[in-house]
Amino acid sequence: MDKKPQKIKSVSGAVGFSMQKSKGQHLLKNPKILEAIKNKSGIKSTDIVLEIGPGTGNLTMLLLAESKKVIAIELDPRMVAQLLKRVSVSEYQNKLQLIQGDVLKQKLPFFNLCVANIPYQISSPIVFKLLNHRPFFRCAVLLIQREFAMRLIAKPGSEFYCRLSVNVQLLSKVEHLMKVSKNDFNPPPKVESSVVRIEPKNPLPNINFMEWDGLLRICFNRKNKTLGAIFKQKYILDMLFNNFKKFEKMKENNNYKVNNEESINQFIKNEMEMNDVMEVENDKDDDDKKEKNDDGKNKEKDPEKEKFKNMLMDILTKEDYINKRAIKMSIDEFLKLLDILNNNGIHLN
Ligand code: SAH
Repeated sequence: MDKKPQKIKSVSGAVGFSMQKSKGQHLLKNPKILEAIKNKSGIKSTDIVLEIGPGTGNLTMLLLAESKKVIAIELDPRMVAQLLKRVSVSEYQNKLQLIQGDVLKQKLPFFNLCVANIPYQISSPIVFKLLNHRPFFRCAVLLIQREFAMRLIAKPGSEFYCRLSVNVQLLSKVEHLMKVSKNDFNPPPKVESSVVRIEPKNPLPNINFMEWDGLLRICFNRKNKTLGAIFKQKYILDMLFNNFKKFEKMKENNNYKVNNEESINQFIKNEMEMNDVMEVENDKDDDDKKEKNDDGKNKEKDPEKEKFKNMLMDILTKEDYINKRAIKMSIDEFLKLLDILNNNGIHLN
């Protein structure tokens, strides 16, 4: 008898082997939901479809029937074997290209539609990897954890609105398509699920994404605070002041180049590495305390830095940002703020 590796939870089922929770293995078993996902994806007979984590192929078989070709990337060799067996006795054998490996380590092949019930623990890196893919694909219809879906679609003011919402909506149009119950899976996951449709924006705004990322990290680190309070923190002012001087020097030496095109790759790489879980609000105002202490000790202030601080506060006041809070700011407001700051020589990266 085979010894079961640890962490494997045994489930009974037609597949004949146990599901690995660590790989997010929850097979979609409700035929109505599978059918609905296929229909909502708008799949066409000319489509080359990417499926991430096909598992034993419940969704794959439906996609094969309606498309030109399916390219499926699956990590688990047991699943790969099972799917190959299943497809070999079907009429679609020649339409399936199955790649065994980790989707995050693969260069994605050409596809124009992505349909998948993805492993939930790597949802965020998968979404960003898809959004960085070129040429642009038509859309991705993904089955994901409900809470992650809520964050992807959240609008300013919603309890789910966070950096992830802003970043994903900067790069794409996201739509909630339907709810899926735990009981539609084998084994049922602990969480509820949703199907979303993600349509990459093309063209993307012509911004420096590293600057954008810098701005959002600052604003959402304390997302309930006003921008006035956030930008007054000593470590932020120090950072911005140093950047200000650096950029002034570069300008003097005519070394100032903006490379917007490459910035998106670095930005996405950072986001993928973060595998962003819920943003934690930093309640301890350590920096503020530090600042008070510093103020107490060092009576002398750098006049140049003070001037910079006043300039920054004046800009935020004049442009009506000083009392705004990240949780209620739209993408356009962030874009405009970035533009205003950059135009005044204030850089966030
Ligand atoms: N689409 C199938 C299975 C979904 S479960 C269905 O709906 O029935 C998620 C699948 O993703 C599992 O088969 C798991 O082995 C696979 N998987 C997990 N991590 C992966 C990774 N990094 N790259 C590719 N596939 C992965």
